[in-house]
Amino acid sequence: MTSSIWHPFTQHGLQEPIPLVESAQGALLQTAEGPMIDAISSWWVTTHGHCNPRIMAAIAEQAQKLDQVIFAGWTHQPAEDVAAGLRAIMPESLTRVFFSDSGSTCVEVALKMALGYWHARGEQRHRIVVMEHSYHGDTIGTMSVGERGVFNQAYEPLLFDVARIPFPAASAEQETLDALEAFCKQPDTAALIVEPLVLGAGGMLVYSAETLAAMHAICARHGVLFIADEVMTGWGRTGTLLACEQADVVPDILCLSKGLTGGSMPLAVTMASEPIFEAHWSTDRAKMFFHSSSYTANPLACAAASANLAIWREEPVRERIAALAAKQAAWLEKLGQFCHFNNPRQLGTLAALDLKTSGEGGYLDTLAPRLMAFFRERGVLLRPLGNTIYVMPPYCITDDQLAQVWDAIGEAVISF
Ligand SMILES: *Cc1c(COP(=O)(O)O)cnc(C)c1O
Repeated sequence: MTSSIWHPFTQHGLQEPIPLVESAQGALLQTAEGPMIDAISSWWVTTHGHCNPRIMAAIAEQAQKLDQVIFAGWTHQPAEDVAAGLRAIMPESLTRVFFSDSGSTCVEVALKMALGYWHARGEQRHRIVVMEHSYHGDTIGTMSVGERGVFNQAYEPLLFDVARIPFPAASAEQETLDALEAFCKQPDTAALIVEPLVLGAGGMLVYSAETLAAMHAICARHGVLFIADEVMTGWGRTGTLLACEQADVVPDILCLSKGLTGGSMPLAVTMASEPIFEAHWSTDRAKMFFHSSSYTANPLACAAASANLAIWREEPVRERIAALAAKQAAWLEKLGQFCHFNNPRQLGTLAALDLKTSGEGGYLDTLAPRLMAFFRERGVLLRPLGNTIYVMPPYCITDDQLAQVWDAIGEAVISF
């Protein structure tokens, strides 16, 4: 059977087999090749597990009532419930909730809000400060604020200019802070956008909460807006609901997606502080926030998000996360005793290590696809980033499943 599907981030010329996934439950996928443990939460989205009964029931119930409706100037209960639920658990100063449908779009919205804010205030501030190795999405705008490389070389002429600060590697934090301070002093700087505590697609690069707090303090001192892209880090991934919490940082603008619906439906929000909303508030239609997408706040997706919020309120999610984090730490330590790899690191439910390779590395290296195939043969879905292997499972993964994942990694570390 040939398929006409053009898959994302897939080189069809290599004719890598594309497995068919039939169903999923908890941390387990059922595929045409057999069961597969989803050790990367289906690319970082699944938090409570696949087909969570409460979330599935909420979607089914909503599907009887309202499927989709225009959101410009209209509202519906599922969206109101999500906004109220977010207000109750997210930082108090983030008073406004703007819906969109993916991580990329909520970042685009954040950038537009930041520029709109300065525009409304009559200040010529349009420069965005970004961190080296960052990833914020694959649209033109989000590629512009992300790391440049083979991924976006062809589109480079369309990408806008940004100011870059170095990644705050251990013992080089001061360089990052000095560079940020220098950019913040320039009168055209509008905002800093960062992935708090860990750069995901950049290679699971971890930096300290102290540095995050110091970066926020510099922005605050100069009135530069602080945008936290918690698309990956949010919803408990790093051990706390938001990664920013660990640094006592409250951003001016917060981007959430992936785990917002527990990983079941595409939905995103950009939460903004009152001054950002106020800057767009007017009786003049020319000053409204000019952004929408057809499926903004889709009711089915909102029902899923609402169920996710209920799970966070009513179930011991934080305890589950703490328990998983402890197991991840134990596995990383166990592996460290007899295996050869670099830079083991862990943040909450996320654990990563770098394979020692002979002069290899980089995204296009054949190591990652070879590793992926190796894991797949062992019933484990992992998708290494270059020579970085990371485990980011749904919080419901069982001890046996987690053992199978780490056993496969242990085997890989000695085989490659
Ligand atoms: C995944 C991701 C995005 C993009 O989200 P999409 O839903 O894939 O558009 C943006 N920022 C970060 C930090 C991410 O990890």
